[in-house]
Amino acid sequence: MSKSNTKREVDITWNYYDIVPPNRLQVKCKFFSHTCWGGLAKMKQHLARTKKDVIPCCSVPDEVKEIFIKMLKGKEKKKQRMRCLI
Ligand SMILES: [Zn+2]
Repeated sequence: MSKSNTKREVDITWNYYDIVPPNRLQVKCKFFSHTCWGGLAKMKQHLARTKKDVIPCCSVPDEVKEIFIKMLKGKEKKKQRMRCLI
C-alpha cells in the first residue's frame, strides 16, 4: 500500500549521496565529498545534522537539511505507531 511512497522518498535521498562500491556501508556525501560509514541511515542523520552518532554535514543547504529532518521525524512516527500496534 505505502510502497510507492517509500520508493519516492528513497529517490529524493539518492540525489544527495552515492554508495561507494563495493561496500554498501560506505556512502559518499555529495556536498562535501566526504565518505561516511554506516550506510543510508547514518547519511540521513549526517545530512539532517542531528549529531546522532554521526558528524553533521558542514555544507548541506538548509532546504536539504529540512527534507532530511522531516524524513527522520516521519520515520520516528511510523515506529511509534508500530509499537502501539504490538
Ligand atoms: Zn556531508
